[in-house]
Order: sequence, then structure tokens, then C-alpha cells
Amino acid sequence: MASRMQAIDADQTIEAYRAAMNDVLAAQKKAFLDEAPVSVKSRISRLDRTLAILVDHQNELCAAMAQDFDSRPVLMSKFTDIASAVKALKFAKKHLRYWMQPEKRGLEFPLGLLGASGRIAYQPKGVVGVISPWNFPVNLTFAPLAGILAAGNRVMIKPSELTPATSALMEQLFSEYFDGEEISVITGGADVGQAFSSLAFDHLLFTGSTAVGRHVMRAAADNLVPVTLELGGKSPVIVSKSADLDQMAERVLTGKLMNAGQICLAPDYLLVPQDRMAACVEALEKAAARLYPHMDRHPDYTAIINSRHHSRLQAHIKDAQEKGARLSVCGSDGQQKPDDQPNTTMPLYILSGVDDQMTVMRDELFGPILPLVGYQSIDEAIAYINAHDRPLGLYYFGQNQAEERHVIARTTSGGVTVNDVLWHVAHEDLPFGGIGPSGMGSYHGVEGFKSFSHARTIYRQTGFNITKLIGALPPYGQALAKTLRFQIKK
Ligand code: NAD
Repeated sequence: MASRMQAIDADQTIEAYRAAMNDVLAAQKKAFLDEAPVSVKSRISRLDRTLAILVDHQNELCAAMAQDFDSRPVLMSKFTDIASAVKALKFAKKHLRYWMQPEKRGLEFPLGLLGASGRIAYQPKGVVGVISPWNFPVNLTFAPLAGILAAGNRVMIKPSELTPATSALMEQLFSEYFDGEEISVITGGADVGQAFSSLAFDHLLFTGSTAVGRHVMRAAADNLVPVTLELGGKSPVIVSKSADLDQMAERVLTGKLMNAGQICLAPDYLLVPQDRMAACVEALEKAAARLYPHMDRHPDYTAIINSRHHSRLQAHIKDAQEKGARLSVCGSDGQQKPDDQPNTTMPLYILSGVDDQMTVMRDELFGPILPLVGYQSIDEAIAYINAHDRPLGLYYFGQNQAEERHVIARTTSGGVTVNDVLWHVAHEDLPFGGIGPSGMGSYHGVEGFKSFSHARTIYRQTGFNITKLIGALPPYGQALAKTLRFQIKK
């Protein structure tokens, strides 16, 4: 069956792709039904083979990512893409027997006493579609597999066309380690993604932009396919009056500049007390110089994925400058880059004096641009966040715990990290996901297992004629009226 997909080459029409993908889906669905129930052994074998791809081919995968980005540090790729996915898969392996246990539930009195029982059994959904983006192409393909495979599903994957070397390598490796009826990778662009998202999967996980997420949800609706959407947005950082600015600057920039800001959870903009604005800019400039001197030639820095995104980021800076923002460029010494350096590396741009008319305050930045917005009172900062789309992450820096509680209780976001950025995504036992425009549903750990399982209620009736006992056996009369008088009261 793997060869059925391979028979589709780039010249084929999208309809041929759709037909081929439908064949794969039908074969996976049949294999799923033939296999039922999916044993622990089978789930562990799939998790083990997925782990083996990552561990045995880590260097090739990192080399492919470096090729796709033109420049991406191998150690960073091992950290962000390989190790984090390995951790997720091992966590699932360790816990899946426990997660698979049926959950006993309480019943209405007196049914339990009369011998009835109720439980939830977690069943695999069947075939899960996975659409992944380019920014962490390996992590965002492999880490969700922890929950998907632990839950006993089969998988079809559509990775990003913006990382062609990594996507082709993943396609090759999955076909070496898996039968196409277990896991199948389909490479291609947005048109293939569009056709893919219209398939009648048993569940669809989409990781990508909010704009494409809307299309995916619409396409899934035609077949009533349940979706998990892991989207993007503008994750704010509230810098409290009580914050240690040097610590805040170092931590914000460590997160912001990893992968050159191309992270869904990257701190997008800072809300800063107006009277600490200058000090905040200074602390950020110092931290940037310490972390990445000469960003444009630094071996630990990542390039912007392609010239289209580079131009998109430059257009934001031009727009902000034209509308009066103050600009501070960090990590560029203005020297000519050596010829072998990619031309898509970008220094950090700190922007102050920004407002909502500027595109930097309207669009997700997804790059090394950091706007700073001033506030007078913490409630003004909270009101600003609440007037915009609910973000994927929210960050608070400060030592004032009453204020921290005030902020958390009055805002909504996918997740929160206090006194750092990104860290809430790094723990398998904490669910990760967005809310509203930043996504729906979550994965990681048991939440991943549950997202990709069907929580099936199973009720076993008592031998007593319970319907008669409560008077619900027609014809209705005094017995039922008495039961209802007992039930319908405060
Ligand atoms: P994207 O939405 O452009 O593309 C993501 C995937 O969708 C790609 O594989 C692409 O081929 C496919 N696609 C494109 N058009 C499609 C369509 N009409 N129907 C179905 N599939 C289609 O996103 P991107 O540029 O690859 O990634 C960046 C975005 O992803 C950012 O917004 C970022 O915040 C978000 N993101 C979110 C998370 C998260 O976990 N929440 C993680 C990483 C990235």
C-alpha cells in the first residue's frame, strides 16, 4: 500500500492525490478493524519504532532541518525537536497501561447497590490525520504520536512543504519502520493539505496558523471529523513593576531568540510599566548582546525559514518605523556577511512606542521582532490582553504574588508560565493547547491519550426490573409520580 502513495508523483492532479489518500485511509481503517482490540504489545511496538527513528536517525534529521532552514544549530534541533519528542514517547510508553484502564463511575441510587455497573472504556478512535508545520518539523510530527499511538490509532501524516528535506526524510523513515497501513506520510503543499483535511478521518490534529486552522475545521465539518487545533497568535508578556528586569530580559530573549522567534509560544510582545520602559529596553539590549553577540554570524542562531518570511518580517519593521515606532537593532554589527552565510538570518528588533495601527501589533510576529507596549496600571495591561484574541501563552514576570493571581484570574490563554517563557509546554504531565483563536483541545501526557481515544460509556443493567421498580413501565401512574416527587425537589 505504501507503493500506492509512491505511485503518485508531483505531476499528478490533486484529484489523483485525493484518490490515493482515500485508498490509504480505507486500507488503514480496514487494518484497524481487523486488528481490534489493539493490544498493549502492539502499541508499545509502534512507540518503540517511532523512538527508534528519532534516536537512530537524529543526526540525519538534524542535518535535514539545517538544510531546510539554511542554518539551524544541530544542538538546538536535538533539544527542541529530537529530545522533546523522545521524552513524550517514553512518557507514553511508561504510562499507557495505566491510561488504558477502564474508569469505574458512580450510578444513580440505588442502581449500584442492586448490581448495575458503569464504566468508561478508552477505545482507539481509528485513523488519525496529522497536519504539521515547518517551525519544529520533527517535534510537531513526532510528539503528538505519543498520545495517538498509545491510544491505539493508526496515522496518516501531512508534514510541511516549507521543510522539503525533513519532510522527505520523515516519509522515507516512516516507510522503513512502519507498514503503510500503520503510519503513512503524504508530502505536498497547501493543495495536498487541503485535500488531506477533507478526508473522513476518525480524528484530525492540525498544528499551524489560525487562518489555515479555520479552513481545516470547515473541511473536517463536512465529515463531522473531530479536530484538535494547535494554532498560533500573539502571546503577551506582562512585566510587573516588581519584576527583576535583568532576569526578565535574559529569560524572555532566551525564549524569543530560540529558533529566531519562529515558535508558536514565543513571547510576541511585552506589556511594560510606562515608567520602566527605558530601563526595560536597556535590559533587553544588554541581554541580547550577552546571549547572541553578532547574531547574523552566530553559530547558535537560526535563520528565517525562507525569503518570503524574511520579507514579511522586514515589512512589519518598515510599517512600524513609518508609523513612528522607535527601533533598536541588537546583535548586528552591520558587517558584510561572508558569502557562505544565508541571507535570511535576522537580528533582534526591539520596538517601542508602538500602537494597534501598526501591523506588529496586529499579526503574529513569528520572528525576532519584540514590540513593547506601555501601561499605567496592571488593569490597563489586563484590559489590553482581553481586548485581543485569546493567546496560546501568557507570561507574567514579577514578585508580587497578589498581582500575579489578579492577572491569572482575569485573563484567558492556552497556558501560563510565571517568571519565564515557554516552560509550560516542556512538561509531559501538563496539557498543552490553545483556546479560541489559539486552538482547541490539547495533547501531551494523559490529555493526549484522551484526545485521541473515544471515552466510551459502558453500562451493565441489574437483574432487577428497575423500570418497574421506579414506576416507569407503562401505563404511567402513581408509582412514577411518587418517584418524580422524590426526584424533583430542591
Ligand atoms: P500553516 O498553517 O501555513 O501550515 C501548516 C500546515 O498546513 C502545512 O503542512 C501546510 O501544508 C498545511 N496547509 C496549508 N494550507 C492548508 C489548507 N488550506 N488546508 C489544510 N492544510 C493546509 O502554518 P505554518 O506556517 O507551517 O506554521 C506556522 C504557524 O503555526 C504559526 O501560526 C504558529 O503559531 C503555528 N504553530 C502552532 C503550534 C502549536 O502547537 N500551537 C506549533 C507550531 C506552530
